[in-house]
Amino acid sequence: MVNESVLARLKEYVNDSENIVIVPHHNPDGDAIGASLALYGVLQKMEKKVNVVSPNSFPEFLQWMTGADDVINYEDHPSKVKKAVKEAELIFFLDFNGLSRLKSLEKEVANFSGRKVMVDHHPGPEDIADVMISEPEASATCELMYDVINKAGWKHLLDKDLAECIYTGIMTDTGSLSYNSSRPEIYHIVADLVGIGVDKDKVHKLVFHSNSFNRMKLLGHALGQKMYLLDGSPAAYIVLTAEELKRYEFKPGDTEGFVNYPLWIEGISVSALFMEHEDKIKVSLRSRGSFPVNKFSEKFFNGGGHRNAAGGEYYGNLTDAVDAFCRELPLFIKSHNYND
Ligand code: 5GP
Ligand code: MN
Repeated sequence: MVNESVLARLKEYVNDSENIVIVPHHNPDGDAIGASLALYGVLQKMEKKVNVVSPNSFPEFLQWMTGADDVINYEDHPSKVKKAVKEAELIFFLDFNGLSRLKSLEKEVANFSGRKVMVDHHPGPEDIADVMISEPEASATCELMYDVINKAGWKHLLDKDLAECIYTGIMTDTGSLSYNSSRPEIYHIVADLVGIGVDKDKVHKLVFHSNSFNRMKLLGHALGQKMYLLDGSPAAYIVLTAEELKRYEFKPGDTEGFVNYPLWIEGISVSALFMEHEDKIKVSLRSRGSFPVNKFSEKFFNGGGHRNAAGGEYYGNLTDAVDAFCRELPLFIKSHNYND
């Protein structure tokens, strides 16, 4: 997947740099953290000075990964992050393709004068790096990271723990290989990772079966009391207020995956989750088939993402966010003639 001449420049940048920073997107998920920690481990083995700098914290179900304790969180440690960025010669942007995805960390990297490499699989990249590996066909940034490590001749540095980071990103971005995973290459990569020693059953359990009691209760509440059908459209949505999130002691990552459930209803091909946070409404969108939730999110929710998985934010109250969805979705479907 990764082009040879682009890879040659990436290798040259790494060879020329002693001090490197790796940055995943805001609210980093399994793919962003997996790719960051795999690269972190590989570069450390090359005796580079490396820092992984995240805009904010990441969920507990990803904190078992090797290197996770070393990640510096900008929200909690802004001065450490500033220092790391200031001292770096090279920055890697992983699993995002526009600097706005860094939220408040954006201003710290915007004026960075060293070299920049982006590795990402979202459509519509902005010109944010000197070397851009942008492959919307890839299942996950972790798939691209494997390709980079392999083709760069660094695969011998990939031990079991680092291979598990890569496997995590592939697993979480494809719903355990249930979508976005129809190209044969991905199975060759998984086979190779299992060959290196990845315990895939263990990874699955650590990521998906480590829920708190409250998280399971919140899921029950969301599906039982707060899921609605949008009359006349193939859509369903879940709405969670700040009070409900508080009642179930919401922690980042607790609602991960909730937005997928409405798609399990026969005839439903678009799903949304609305969550009321202090300063904004967080919106998650999923679809099956041709309906581009990324375009819908760009237009109405200041967001973006992939065709079938996107997110965004609404700056206003919860009712208005839900009303906008219910009003605009049927019009959007009608005007674009999506019918599968
Ligand atoms: P989630 O619904 O899991 O938060 O996000 C699903 C996907 O949508 C992410 O992988 C990311 O590509 C995209 N996404 C989520 N939130 C935002 C956002 O605020 N802005 C943009 N541009 N993309 C987002
Ligand atoms: Mn991803």
